[in-house]
Amino acid sequence: MRLHRSETAFFVFMALILVTCVLMLFAYRALTAEHIDDAAAHELASRMLFGGAILNAGAIIFGLFFIFPLIRTQVREEGKLRAMTETLSARSVTLEHAALTDGLTSMHNRRYFDDALREYLGEFQRIGKPVGLMILDLDNFKAVNDTHGHDVGDEVLRQVASCLREFTRYHDVAARLGGEEFAVVAPNLDEDMLAKLAERIRTAISQLTVTTGNITLRVTTSVGLAVWDRSETADEFFRRADRKLYQAKRLGRNRVCA
Ligand code: GH3
Ligand code: MG
Ligand code: MG
Repeated sequence: MRLHRSETAFFVFMALILVTCVLMLFAYRALTAEHIDDAAAHELASRMLFGGAILNAGAIIFGLFFIFPLIRTQVREEGKLRAMTETLSARSVTLEHAALTDGLTSMHNRRYFDDALREYLGEFQRIGKPVGLMILDLDNFKAVNDTHGHDVGDEVLRQVASCLREFTRYHDVAARLGGEEFAVVAPNLDEDMLAKLAERIRTAISQLTVTTGNITLRVTTSVGLAVWDRSETADEFFRRADRKLYQAKRLGRNRVCA
């Protein structure tokens, strides 16, 4: 067994104290024994007491100048280690949050969305309620960037994000899937309610205004909807809503297809 420095120091300290005690015990025995020559016993006892005192003083010096600084160093190192662990765990929470958040809009990102969709389907399979899915893709967005610049395009994306935040409920999951594509998982909404919500969001987005110089810019969005049929996988469900989105594009954009 390998001993740590502080453990070795502790055993040395205890050994010094133990030897001191033994010496004092022998000194006591020597002084109280009846049949031994008084002078010799006195001499022996005083030597043992002196030896004990030296060892005791040695133990105190050892404790003061070796064990105590060792403990102080260990306490300081432990404090540093704890602070480092706290920083690292705070950083990992931040990293996890960053890994699931879209940097431009602060919405959930694709990764978060995929997990949330799978989890919702698992949960709603059990409780037997509907799950609606909405995929939105801004219309002719490339032209917005080409005409007004990427920064204006970014501002449009941020405004669309806050519009989605405004229209969705606490337990809906609204995410930016990438580029100018967004999605909303809306639990507990049947086809009718989902279509009404999508229509409200489509109208609100078409009324957004971004002003650059003296130009006021408007964008529209196409929306594909699907309500989970309770047997399809998350991927199949997503692809079905995506097909509806492309149907909305084909039919002329700025519309909802279910
Ligand atoms: P459609 O109506 O068919 O969807 O046409 P679209 O122009 O919207 O589609 P397309 O896929 O051709 O172009 C999408 C554009 O979105 C291309 C790219 O310039 C832009 N885009 C993607 N990500 C970002 C982003 O983070 N910021 C900005 N400003 N633009 C982006
Ligand atoms: Mg588009
Ligand atoms: Mg797109």
